[in-house]
Amino acid sequence: MTTIRPSREPRPLGKSELTVSPISWGMWRLEGTDTAPVRALIDAAFEAGITLFDTADIYGFGGPGFGTAEALFGRALAEDASLRDRMVIATKGGITPPAPYDSSAAYLTAAIDASLGRLRIDVIDLYQIHRRDFLTHPHEVAGALTRAVEGGKVRALGVSNHAPAELSALQRFLDVPIVSTQPEFSALQVASLYDGTLDQAMADDVAVLAWSPLGGGRLVGGDTPAGSLLAEQGSTYGVDGTAAALSWVMAHPARVIPIVGSQNPARVRASADAFKVEWTREQWYAVMQAGTGEKLP
Ligand code: NAP
Repeated sequence: MTTIRPSREPRPLGKSELTVSPISWGMWRLEGTDTAPVRALIDAAFEAGITLFDTADIYGFGGPGFGTAEALFGRALAEDASLRDRMVIATKGGITPPAPYDSSAAYLTAAIDASLGRLRIDVIDLYQIHRRDFLTHPHEVAGALTRAVEGGKVRALGVSNHAPAELSALQRFLDVPIVSTQPEFSALQVASLYDGTLDQAMADDVAVLAWSPLGGGRLVGGDTPAGSLLAEQGSTYGVDGTAAALSWVMAHPARVIPIVGSQNPARVRASADAFKVEWTREQWYAVMQAGTGEKLP
């Protein structure tokens, strides 16, 4: 029987010149003031083969404050100059509580400078528009992003939580490609399978970064139908259900890159177990149907 197994090979980030790992580590939940735990997480990510690091200017809002996750990561980077060159650093901007969104050229230009300052780096590898601002024409968004690329502040451009038509409209005003999109994707959130996000990614060579690949933790453990199937699948390959959940995301032919959200170094390290899990079609679709609670026709 043919099985699907996620590739552990590094790959180009869409049409960019950046090469990234098949798994990313994300900092939405990064907290604290001490850099030692951050360094432990960075080292754990490296041990798992992860080179793609995802943050956003908003991370920390609602807790220690807007910009604090970038600033803490930036302080950890500043303590060891060798780290930065081993990473592809992705951040995002455009969520501006309480507005809640601003992608005006003036705002994005200032936001990119502010992210560079907090991260203490010279260039952002991937800059993503975090959510669509309905009140800014994509021509204006594109203008600010083009100036950031031409000014050497950003290497590549991406979007997050954008419908395919929104990505296309922005692309229409850019001379450089949008290299990535970042939808929520897991067995609990499969909208991107149906709304054209993953089809557009495959057709146009756009990399897909999946946020909340464990459903924010809801797929962990065996107490939901999908969680229990994932735990069972993992046990067949000697790993836990978390590894199976990441593998499920990666099995999609768009070569989806799950963003691991754990802030526990042992769990970040264990994310490489995902490469051990294989899927038959029947097993993969069974998890999907358990996650959505809907039987496929
Ligand atoms: P997730 O991987 O779905 O969930 C992470 C949560 O699951 C953490 O609270 C983690 O706790 C918990 N967890 C993981 N393994 C566990 C285990 N074995 N046992 C118990 N708990 C476990 O991802 P996420 O944090 O929601 O999102 C991942 C990343 O996606 C973020 O960091 C961010 O970079 C990105 N993101 C983007 C957007 C967007 O709008 N673009 C939105 C949300 C997130 P521990 O830390 O204790 O392990």
